Amino acid sequence: MSPVRPPLPPLPPLSPRAFASFDEAHGGAIAAASAGLSTVQAASSVSSADGLTHAPDTGSDRIGSYVFPGIGVIEPAPEGTKPGTVYLVGGGPGSVELLTLKAVQCLSSADVVLLDHLAPQDIASFAPNTQIIEVGKNPGKHVVPQSHIQQLILALALSGKTVVRLKGGDPFVFGRGAEELDACTAAGIECHVVPGVSSAIAVPAAASIPVTMRKVSHMFTVLSGHSALNDADLDALAATLRAGGTGVLLMGVRTLGSTVAGLLARGLDDYTPMATIERGYSEDQRVTVTVLGAAERDCAQVQAPAITVFGEVVRYARDDQQRLLAEVSDYVKDHS
Ligand code: SAH
Repeated sequence: MSPVRPPLPPLPPLSPRAFASFDEAHGGAIAAASAGLSTVQAASSVSSADGLTHAPDTGSDRIGSYVFPGIGVIEPAPEGTKPGTVYLVGGGPGSVELLTLKAVQCLSSADVVLLDHLAPQDIASFAPNTQIIEVGKNPGKHVVPQSHIQQLILALALSGKTVVRLKGGDPFVFGRGAEELDACTAAGIECHVVPGVSSAIAVPAAASIPVTMRKVSHMFTVLSGHSALNDADLDALAATLRAGGTGVLLMGVRTLGSTVAGLLARGLDDYTPMATIERGYSEDQRVTVTVLGAAERDCAQVQAPAITVFGEVVRYARDDQQRLLAEVSDYVKDHS
């Protein structure tokens, strides 16, 4: 007989989100919006907080024009006009074929698309009459900081436009989607989230690596390696792998050396399989299959964007990768 569970304690009351932790530049809008001011007043506080130029006050509580560096002037909608709607859309890992039908629908009805660098880029045919603004972080291209992107979303929506923010993967997986949703909600702008195919699952699949597999791996842990993993992260990743699970590391190229060293220092086997998949679903996708003990040699050339998968599931990659895995195992044997 299964043990009787004790009743769950009551949930604490929900508290409003901690806007204070937001980007400083955004505090004004959120504070104003949460204080119950009108949408326009809220947005007007945004403009003054971030060093963005905005035209002199119109005399009413309506916002003036915004001037975004590299983008131009955004005029406010005529008084009494309903603000536009914002769609935070997951664009999948980069191939247009992995856009959802809903994403395509949103693109076709948008006035403006704010395009992330990891989202599919060749979307013009889905959005023929749409202004497309690249806000991604491609090296050498104009970079729009996140605080400006949020203001841009608000300013465009307040100017009456239907805005699509097209993000790589899923907006809620390391995508800052929740922040943008909060900013819209706080400013009284209707905002919808459209999930996307997350690279955390889809990019391993591009190398035929399943993140779970019956009798091999029954769980997976997804981590950000944007900053070097701390002890608690490494303990959690090591515990996942020891329990037979899969580790999936995003944004982890720069810190890969310290991740691998941290796992080895926690007693993980040299032969633990791992794979990096660079530029998944692009023509120059590259898959490197190796083991922890040979990662330093094999992953030296890996470049972002890439995903690293750790665990036994890597053995179920395609045949040519099986061969690679056998080779690296020999390397580790010779070097340990
Ligand atoms: N929201 C996104 C993740 C954003 S974080 C999602 O759900 O997929 C950005 C990281 O995602 C990159 O640094 C990289 O680790 C990973 N990534 C996204 N697209 C990728 C691709 N096509 N190939 C390899 N890695 C990718």
